[in-house]
Amino acid sequence: MGVGVKKITLTIDGQDVETDEGQTILEAALQNDIYIPHLCYHPALQPRGTCRLCMVELGDGQLVTSCRTLVAPGMVVKTKSPEVNKVVRPVVELLIADHHSSCRGCPANGHCELQKIMAHLRIDRRRVRRLRPPEEEMPLDTSNPCFDYDPNRCVVCGICVQTCEDLHGVSSLYFVNRGYGTRIAFHGDESKCESCKKCIERCPVGVLLPKDVPVSSA
Ligand code: SF4
Ligand code: SF4
Repeated sequence: MGVGVKKITLTIDGQDVETDEGQTILEAALQNDIYIPHLCYHPALQPRGTCRLCMVELGDGQLVTSCRTLVAPGMVVKTKSPEVNKVVRPVVELLIADHHSSCRGCPANGHCELQKIMAHLRIDRRRVRRLRPPEEEMPLDTSNPCFDYDPNRCVVCGICVQTCEDLHGVSSLYFVNRGYGTRIAFHGDESKCESCKKCIERCPVGVLLPKDVPVSSA
């Protein structure tokens, strides 16, 4: 705890939670072992609120992204409510339907954020996958010197892009296409990737498969 940091109390799912002023609702919840689904949030990065999975309902009925909303004294937060469910569940179901891969054989199996979210929301994966139109698997992208990219498993959270930009000033990774066709791509110029492997470490679903190259200390 920092010197002079004011403590405040709020209520999350009926539980009184004490936390530091200036924290977000998501940070306060996670620190108190209250899970709120999230994919684009990483504690080392600025929150962007793009995945919309960390939506919570405030006491006045307002829906907000918990990763971008600061706690306030006396705040009332519901992480599970019919209104939250109406927003979050369809987003997760679409992500799963678009997730063209089986967990078996996936390097992230057992410690994958998407699996955690499915379990938390009790989503029947087999039912959701029936919504998916038959499509061919996309090939592995092997163009990066440091890792291979499996687009079939990518949830397009953007953590890898933001991580590279944050650490190196300019990202070696970028988004291509739009809507459900959105994927990650790499600048072909090998010199842009510093092989720090931080993007691999932070990917929440194990989509970046490391190649046998030494980790750079740059
Ligand atoms: S590769 Fe991983 S970190 Fe990057 S957008 Fe896809 S799921 Fe997110
Ligand atoms: S390994 Fe490091 S430098 Fe290379 S793309 Fe990933 S974050 Fe960027």
